[in-house]
Formats: sequence, C-alpha cells, structure tokens
Amino acid sequence: MPRVFSYFTKAPKTVPYRVSTLDYLDFFREQYLTTDDLVAVVSALNLFQSGFGTSRCWCLKTINRSELKGFTTSHGSRPLYKGRDARMLALAIAGQYHSEPQPVIVRRHVCDSIYCINPNHYYFGTKKEVCFERGQRKGSRISPDLVTELRLKNTENRKTWSYAALARQYRLPYHVVRRICNHESYE
Ligand SMILES: [Zn+2]
Repeated sequence: MPRVFSYFTKAPKTVPYRVSTLDYLDFFREQYLTTDDLVAVVSALNLFQSGFGTSRCWCLKTINRSELKGFTTSHGSRPLYKGRDARMLALAIAGQYHSEPQPVIVRRHVCDSIYCINPNHYYFGTKKEVCFERGQRKGSRISPDLVTELRLKNTENRKTWSYAALARQYRLPYHVVRRICNHESYE
C-alpha cells in the first residue's frame, strides 16, 4: 500500500551524505584532495541539508565561513573548494560524475545562486541543456521537445512549415524559429 503523507504523518527523513563510499575517495584523490577534504565537503553538505532542506539553495554566502573551511566565493561564476569546482565535488558525493555525452555541469533554472553547492540543483549534461536552463530562468517556454517538433515540421514540409508559418503557429519570434531550425541555437 502506498504511504500517504499528511499533516498527521512525519515528512520523509532526509538521508545524510556519507564518507564511507570508496568511489568518492578515488575521485577526490584524482583531484589531489585527501580524506580530510572529503570529510570537510561531506560535512558542509550535511550542514546545509539539515539547515536548509533538500530543495533550497545552499549558497556559500548565506552561512558562517568558519563552518565551511576550504570553500571560497572568489571565482566569478562558481563556488570553489581549495581551488576545485565545489559543484563537481558535491555531485560526486551525490553519485554523479561527468561522462563524454554529459561533460558539463548544468545549473537548474530553479537555482538562485551561482555559489550554491546543493547537488540537487546541478547535473552533468550538455551545452544545449545549459542553454535551456538559462532560457527557462528568463521565462522562456522553449523546451527540448518543442525544438525537436519545430525542426521535424520544418524538414518534413518546408513549404507548409516555413519559419514564418512556424513562428505564427507557435507564437515565437521569427528569428528564434530560424535559429532553432538552422541549428544555430540549441545545437
Ligand atoms: Zn541552488
């Protein structure tokens, strides 16, 4: 029987991040970091998680620095831990690593801070996904599905589905449709 959460039942307990998995340690060693560094990053994640919950931003600027040794906000666009991208370390602890098809860190559009280290606010993806998330953050309604649909219609029947016709049908600016169909944007 599925469990139903109501005002009368407790919310599901969040699971703390752990140091015990050897995968992380190998990954930290590859970054020339030590077990102490791993412990420090795991503790920081747990500190944020217990204080802020899983869905809010874990922004380095919102917490007392003395509790977060090694972390800095000196880089213009990302949080750092001893000079390494702290998001990459947080994602590793959450069990996510980069791969050839998903080489870049994508910040979800729900994320409000470039110094956020909440691994739920990031994922490894493509430059295209970075583009989508940026668009969504600015209120764009262009989704990967919409891009596929526009391109498909345009290649199947260029006369009926010209850029102008697509722009009218989907209420999008002409240049946006043209760029999507020409693969100049969203790859
Ligand atoms: Zn965030």
